[in-house]
Amino acid sequence: MTVQTAIFELIKQAKTIIIHRHQRPDPDAIGSQLGLADIIKTSFPDKRVLAPGKQYHGFDWLGQMDEVSEEDYHDALVLVLDTANQPRVDGEFYQQGKTLVKIDHHPNDDAFGDPQWVDVDASSTSEMVYNWYAQCGDELTLTANAARLLYAGIVGDTGRFLYSATKPSTMRAAAGLMEAGADAETVNRIEDTITLPVARLSAYVYEHLTQLDSGAAYVILTNDIMDSFEIGDASTAGVVPLPGRIDTVKCWAIFVQQKEGDYRIRLRSKGPAINELAKKHDGGGHALASGAKASDQQEIETVVRELDAVASHDEKEV
Ligand code: AMP
Repeated sequence: MTVQTAIFELIKQAKTIIIHRHQRPDPDAIGSQLGLADIIKTSFPDKRVLAPGKQYHGFDWLGQMDEVSEEDYHDALVLVLDTANQPRVDGEFYQQGKTLVKIDHHPNDDAFGDPQWVDVDASSTSEMVYNWYAQCGDELTLTANAARLLYAGIVGDTGRFLYSATKPSTMRAAAGLMEAGADAETVNRIEDTITLPVARLSAYVYEHLTQLDSGAAYVILTNDIMDSFEIGDASTAGVVPLPGRIDTVKCWAIFVQQKEGDYRIRLRSKGPAINELAKKHDGGGHALASGAKASDQQEIETVVRELDAVASHDEKEV
């Protein structure tokens, strides 16, 4: 039995299914979570399906999160989607179900759950959920809303089909989702839309980006800078891809100061792997998209030196 079939069997047996995703969600986290919830609810109307997590106003267009209590987990099947490490799970009771399952496309650094379905070649967890639906097909229903959610997740994690994680299978999944009713134009437009403060912060990022000879680049966004643009940490997602558009930039870091004074580091690359660097600074992630933390200016300088070394050792031209 494949792991996909095993997960399907667990879903068929369970009366209550609770689907989690990671904190600080992105469209793939919410899209895969709510997309899978929609497929299960529609296909098995008698089952209780809950999708908990913090509600973010900016993602209201994807849907609403459910409230859960500890009692809900009694005898429940718990599926954790798009979340590599347990500390990043959004939800306090996820370990209290009967069975815990991981479905994810990040490197499996924290191997929790039994069974675990991890496919690092998938562009996104949403693509995995679509493939699962396509494989387990006959008994499942994919509504236009579920298709829209999964399409949103693929678009989010591939940067609108720009990043190398985009494979022929990704395009086939996107096509299948459009055929199932996903309104691609609306989703693409929503995910491409920025607010005026983010537009102004974009100008700041380009203007203050430091680029080293190696092709490494970085910018520091302090609380004062973000306050001056009336922007919070969550809105920095819109500026993270920007340095990659510069022809000479190979890999880059955006240091985003947190209210406590330390820094969230958002690392991206067009070639050299940056996830080992991220792991050294309390983080992790994909080879080309990782996150980490820096406690102060000194650690920022260390990360910049390491990023410079990563770019210097990469012989490929950008
Ligand atoms: P972000 O810059 O926050 O969008 O993160 C990019 C990717 O890095 C995410 O998809 C995660 O895989 C990973 N990541 C971010 N922060 C962390 C962290 N603190 N620990 C482990 N992985 C992380």
